[in-house]
Amino acid sequence: MKYIVVTGGVMSGLGKGITAASIGRILKNRGYIVTAVKIDPYLNIDAGTMNPAQHGEVFVLRDGAEVDLDLGNYERFMDIEVTSAHNITTGKIYRTVIDKERHGDYLGETVQIIPHITDMIKNQIRSAALNWRSSEGPADVCIVEVGGTVGDIESMPFLEAVRQMHGESEPGDFILVHVTLVPADTMGDLKTKPTQHSVKALRELGLYPDVIVGRSDLPIGAHTKKKISAFCDVPQRAVISATTAPDTYHVPMELEKEGLAEVLTEFLRLEVHTPSNDWYRLVTKEYTSRITVAIVTKYGVEDVYMSIKEALKHAGRSLSTEVNIRWMDAENCDDTILSEVDGILIPGGFGTRGIEGKIQAIRCAREKKIPLIGLCLGFQLAVVEFARHVAGIPDAISAEMGPGTHVIKILPEQEGETDLGGTMRLGDFPVMITPGTLADEIYQGASEITERHRHRYEVNPDCIEILEDKGLIFSGKNGNRMEILEIKDHPFFFATQFHPEFRSRPTRPSPPFLGFVAACKAEKKTS
Ligand code: GLN
Repeated sequence: MKYIVVTGGVMSGLGKGITAASIGRILKNRGYIVTAVKIDPYLNIDAGTMNPAQHGEVFVLRDGAEVDLDLGNYERFMDIEVTSAHNITTGKIYRTVIDKERHGDYLGETVQIIPHITDMIKNQIRSAALNWRSSEGPADVCIVEVGGTVGDIESMPFLEAVRQMHGESEPGDFILVHVTLVPADTMGDLKTKPTQHSVKALRELGLYPDVIVGRSDLPIGAHTKKKISAFCDVPQRAVISATTAPDTYHVPMELEKEGLAEVLTEFLRLEVHTPSNDWYRLVTKEYTSRITVAIVTKYGVEDVYMSIKEALKHAGRSLSTEVNIRWMDAENCDDTILSEVDGILIPGGFGTRGIEGKIQAIRCAREKKIPLIGLCLGFQLAVVEFARHVAGIPDAISAEMGPGTHVIKILPEQEGETDLGGTMRLGDFPVMITPGTLADEIYQGASEITERHRHRYEVNPDCIEILEDKGLIFSGKNGNRMEILEIKDHPFFFATQFHPEFRSRPTRPSPPFLGFVAACKAEKKTS
């Protein structure tokens, strides 16, 4: 197994995750099988209980793990599926070590950060890399992204562990890519000092970068590269200029142009393979039309809706349609503005804030025949809206929100659950599709599909019959659990209890998103 460790210097938010994912894509384009591990040095066991407004979207993996959004980037860029083992946190490491201590596994020993914590980190990285299988087989290369910035107290045990891994590796089996900031001063001159300092901090920990990726607003020219090369002991060809790309999916291409592929294959002693251009052809496909979609949100932070944005982009690209997003605050939603857009998307969410605005937006979409897609909470609120305004249950509401007639109620297995971490209905579950419905058309006749879930509530089984009698069609089910809804005589009114956005890939757009974008395009009002 070959490891590419990616660290970050100077500050967070430099696009380390996109760089790691792009490195994966570059190698995959050359026929290598690549997997990835994300290290998050926080004490939480996983991202499930974290506020998305601070950390961005909680991504859900196939096995139900609630993880950092970078894992979503890995899955999309590399077209792979990873598991809980691929997101290592301080919380998980310490919990495992402390459990072992209580069990008596370290009997007689003093349990310490070095070697016990660092050994556990190395074990978990290696077992994630070695146990993972793609449809083509085990990985040739594992990318390990260390979250945070070099110098953070929390990252120290992880950096110490990767330092040890380096020492234990054969030549060519371990390289370090350091992503750093190369800012420009007011005169437009690029400054290398922050990079020098962060490389110095790495060296003090016994880590020496093989490749430096400099994030900069301006292209890093030969003169600056030479300086970085001299100060940081990295050959000039391994100093890579990474300016902000117009589209993150173009980043692998930009890094290729800088010669990163040659440097990686040389340093990792990989055979040189001719790269496939399929990815580049796909992500640079021309748009021939443009639509505007309103996303009715509770948070004004776009990173919270990362996978949704990407899924719209995947569907749009494959239909040569640019999807322009209009972010709308659910608490200030206006029918007049909603009537101007080509489609409305109601995302998932928790809690009561903005609920009435979202219900109003769904009503507007239903009555004015604007294409609508509802995801998870969006699905539940479409049930509430239908119950209130079509089925004659004016006080219909979800049990999550408060008193009223509970058309949405807690999942039976969740009753009495007091822990909030990792206890929802999470991950991949099958959904049976009803023949002859829009869902059947969208999923191209598949009788059973698989999608990812993250919810605690569901359609109240006692309400299904009355809603169906009034014309609501549940076209996807898992036993008596309602998974997809639609209505007749509408260009596109489709909502899912699951999150189709998590399985969407540039190479394989999500079917519900494809259906939605196609309907928006067909009904298009905006220019
Ligand atoms: N809050 C709702 C539930 O728990 C919806 C969850 C979501 O949108 N992810 O069922």
